[in-house]
Amino acid sequence: QIMWISEGESRVPAVANLTVTGNIVYWAIYVAEERDKLYQELLEARDLLEKKTEELTAVSRRDSLTPLLNRRAAKEDINALIVRSSRAFFPLSFLLLDIDFFKNINDSFGHKVGDRVLINLSKVILGQVRETDVVARWGGEEFVMLLPQAQMADIDKKLNEVRTKLAAMPFKFKQEKVKITASFGATCFNDNDTTETVFERADEYLYKAKRNGRNLVVTDLSTDL
Ligand code: GH3
Ligand code: MG
Ligand code: MG
Repeated sequence: QIMWISEGESRVPAVANLTVTGNIVYWAIYVAEERDKLYQELLEARDLLEKKTEELTAVSRRDSLTPLLNRRAAKEDINALIVRSSRAFFPLSFLLLDIDFFKNINDSFGHKVGDRVLINLSKVILGQVRETDVVARWGGEEFVMLLPQAQMADIDKKLNEVRTKLAAMPFKFKQEKVKITASFGATCFNDNDTTETVFERADEYLYKAKRNGRNLVVTDLSTDL
């Protein structure tokens, strides 16, 4: 492919064909503007497709209400993190958070306010965790978190900070002031765990937190509750 400088000094893409027969050279030059344009369009279409695919992947991992990941993304990330943590020997904590008496919030203030509470609570959690932590809405008013690279004692401390922060702050909506608390169940992955077993254990602790009065964190440290 060659570049042709036309009379107006503008550059025109061109294609040259040469055929040698004996000692005669046949040559032809075609202006190839169309071909060049098509190729350019093809490249642009490919870039656009890649960008759209990335966007769609991100959208399919997002929860529909809150700024968190959804259950599907959480499952993907849990599986990936289990593999990585066992390969690289770093601790991985798993926890469940469930809002206390959330049904009452909906009943007293309506679903719209209930939804706003879920969004605001999500933002509070995101503000308290590391960039590498996974925070997802498992469904309804229940959340899962995956915290790599931290000891259970630190997790317990961190969760109690989140818990007291939530309990202390009223969420304000127009003239309404809504107060909520949440219960937490947290555990650490061990070598024999699968997603199911770790989930069952965290759920057991969450249930203990509920039974022991709510607004409570139950972790592996305090199984004697
Ligand atoms: P507990 O302390 O035992 O967890 O009590 P609870 O009321 O929080 O639990 P329960 O499971 O009885 O009720 C959960 C409520 O969460 C019922 C449902 O209406 C509400 N809920 C679930 N998903 C949504 C949502 O997306 N938006 C709103 N506004 N409410 C939701
Ligand atoms: Mg609840
Ligand atoms: Mg629940």
